[in-house]
Amino acid sequence: MSPITIIGTGLAGYTVARELRKLDKNCPLRLISSDDGHFYSKPMLSNAYAQKKTPETLVTIPVTKMAEQINADILAKTQVTQLDSQQHIIEVNGKHLEYSQLVLACGAEQIHIPLAGNAANKVLSVNDLVDYAHFRTALKGAKRVVIMGAGLIGCEFANDLQPAGFSVTLIDPAPYALGRLVPEVVGQTLQHALQALGVTLHFEKAVKSVEVAETGYRLILTDDSVLDTDVILSAIGLRPRIQLATDAGLSVERGIVVDRFLKTSTEDIYALGDCVQVEGLVLPFVMPLMNAARVLAKTLVGQLTPVIYPAMPIAVKTPACPIVVSPPAIGLEGEWQIEAEGKDIKALFYTPEKKLAGCVLTGTKIAEKATLIKELPPVLA
Ligand SMILES: Cc1cc2nc3c(=O)[nH]c(=O)nc-3n(C[C@H](O)[C@H](O)[C@H](O)COP(=O)(O)OP(=O)(O)OC[C@H]3O[C@@H](n4cnc5c(N)ncnc54)[C@H](O)[C@@H]3O)c2cc1C
Repeated sequence: MSPITIIGTGLAGYTVARELRKLDKNCPLRLISSDDGHFYSKPMLSNAYAQKKTPETLVTIPVTKMAEQINADILAKTQVTQLDSQQHIIEVNGKHLEYSQLVLACGAEQIHIPLAGNAANKVLSVNDLVDYAHFRTALKGAKRVVIMGAGLIGCEFANDLQPAGFSVTLIDPAPYALGRLVPEVVGQTLQHALQALGVTLHFEKAVKSVEVAETGYRLILTDDSVLDTDVILSAIGLRPRIQLATDAGLSVERGIVVDRFLKTSTEDIYALGDCVQVEGLVLPFVMPLMNAARVLAKTLVGQLTPVIYPAMPIAVKTPACPIVVSPPAIGLEGEWQIEAEGKDIKALFYTPEKKLAGCVLTGTKIAEKATLIKELPPVLA
């Protein structure tokens, strides 16, 4: 019998494999990954440097051990280049492999914005262990780091790198930090905390061009100001990796389109994790993929189970100003009610019907998280 095949060995791919093994210890199982297949926690990438973590020490379970643990064949450093859903075949290294059921757990890729200048290609991003290795190499001997993007990942890197001895500048076209997730007062509180560490902030500006300078790089910003730096890190966001699914004719919008059973538009092909769009929602975070993996494992063994997303708070890993956020649905009408005492903020988002639909907590208010989460509506009921 052809194996159940999972493309991707990130948190999504490995979690669904582990959940599957809880239900069926022996069904043939194969995982394929273009990376080296070692297990690591991707969220650690943005606060690993100050803890002196290397790509090697971030790995918690090597690929050979993973293969044993989940009783699976793992084809690492192997890119799936084509998918023929009619024949139930994928192509790797010019060979055809059959699958019984296929799970796409291909993750997300960095968004690249076009920049002018002869060093535009020197902008780094950190989305996996290989990127992190390049980033650490670039930091050797460097003093100044510019981070493009003051969202969750950009702010986390800033909070990690400044105390580690770098002079960090954070640049974002939005008016304040975490602009897409939190009300302004929270963004500004985080900004003050980062500034207190020594981080320089530029809002309502973006990088226009990158040129090689005498030492490092010279950036021109959209207001024509000039900034010199040694390392440039882009944290402007990720988008679902959809090429394989698109080429195979699967339904794709912002992500690979799946229904409540994580089923794509094509028979026997499922998807989860950062590559997916469930009922219009693209949620590139750990909790959604954990919820999805549990139900998908059941569906793969024949117990058709829909995914439900409860309220899924995200912890922003900025120790200078810890934040927990459970954002309201994008575009939802309503307003924030804010209680603020210095760094301790409780912001609650209410709909016009006075229903609680989102919350942001900082400082000591984070202690109220458990109670509030119970009151929040599910993201997908
Ligand atoms: C720096 C950083 C910090 C983060 N912090 C947080 C946080 O604090 N909290 C939180 O909830 N989330 C956080 N996230 C998001 C979270 O890490 C992701 O949601 C999660 O790791 C995605 O897992 P995934 O398995 O879907 O994707 P990935 O980990 O990207 O895995 C994708 C896999 O697919 C493989 N692949 C892709 N295409 C192919 C192909 N054609 N052939 C073979 N293999 C292929 C890749 O090699 C890889 O193994 C963070 C992300 C980053 C980058």
